[in-house]
Amino acid sequence: MEKPCLSVVVPCYNEESVLGAFYEEITKTAESIRDKVECEFLFVDDGSKDRTLEILKELADRDERVSYISFSRNFGKESGIYAGLSNAVGDYVVLMDADLQHPPCYIPEMLDTILSGEYDSVAMRRVDREGEGKIRSFFSRMFYKFNKKISGVDIVEGATDYRMMTRQMVDAVLDMPEYNRFTKGIFAWVGFRTKWIGYHNVERVAGETKWSFSSLLSYSINGIVSFSTVPLAMSSFLGVFFCIFSFVMMIWLIVKTLIFGNAVSGYPTIVTVILFMSGLQLLMFGVLGQYISRSYMEGKHRPIYIAREKKVKRSVVGAEGERGGKRFEAKKETEEK
Ligand code: UDP
Ligand code: MG
Repeated sequence: MEKPCLSVVVPCYNEESVLGAFYEEITKTAESIRDKVECEFLFVDDGSKDRTLEILKELADRDERVSYISFSRNFGKESGIYAGLSNAVGDYVVLMDADLQHPPCYIPEMLDTILSGEYDSVAMRRVDREGEGKIRSFFSRMFYKFNKKISGVDIVEGATDYRMMTRQMVDAVLDMPEYNRFTKGIFAWVGFRTKWIGYHNVERVAGETKWSFSSLLSYSINGIVSFSTVPLAMSSFLGVFFCIFSFVMMIWLIVKTLIFGNAVSGYPTIVTVILFMSGLQLLMFGVLGQYISRSYMEGKHRPIYIAREKKVKRSVVGAEGERGGKRFEAKKETEEK
């Protein structure tokens, strides 16, 4: 009987300094599980400006298990993940970073858990954030707490994108063709039985993180807006609250004027109230804007990524950059024929 295939999907952006070490590690791991699965290594070059693509081509020439997709520009990690998952051929797919912060040594354990049939997915979570800035990890923790409270999906604290999934779960993820992709939320949203394995944070072997504080902030806002409409409802609650408050104030002012007469005072109160209320209104417009801009972008139906060149094993996929839904359909049709 033919062995099942495990696809290792790796989004890479300017990773020339780590790819060699990563390849070495991952091939060693593949060797250790060769009696259970065959491996495919699918690298997604997310419009790198360094020698990442050249290195990938060299690896692909040398090793036929290596495939790659190269984007026409930098589309972001989420697009890289999507491209990787939609071009992977494996019965199982493991998603990991190129910088060895997702240590390949956990793959055998993940694979055994999946093969046991008890779980559809095995995901890794960091139990500490050693080596990460204090402010960064504080905001990160706040985000996960807040997100859990207001959106139905429970993203486990410290959850990473390092995860192994069955084909069934991968197809479910690909069946969500949204343009604003928050993969951690999508993984939680599709459900399935997930086993969490904790591990200690590892620092990047070489190169630099691609995430600035502002990109992490917009990532968190995207995470909240993508999975919760609670911020929209907030304006209604605040509106009701301030209506009641202003009604009480009005009565108090009328009574006060009747008893004490109309003395002109209260300038600071008026200015403060005006500033506060206009600030609140702008804030709520901003919240509204976040949702409208996202639905505007969704409405354009732009492709999630555009590939400039690729060498992949999968021949059944349709035109490059097609939306997930269509791609999924195309794949199913081809399989049925
Ligand atoms: N990455 C990507 N596109 C981007 C930014 C990052 O494909 O626009 C990849 C990157 O090459 C790495 C992974 O995403 O394999 C995680 O990025 P990084 O290590 O910079 O993030 P951190 O580990 O610091 O959160
Ligand atoms: Mg990293």
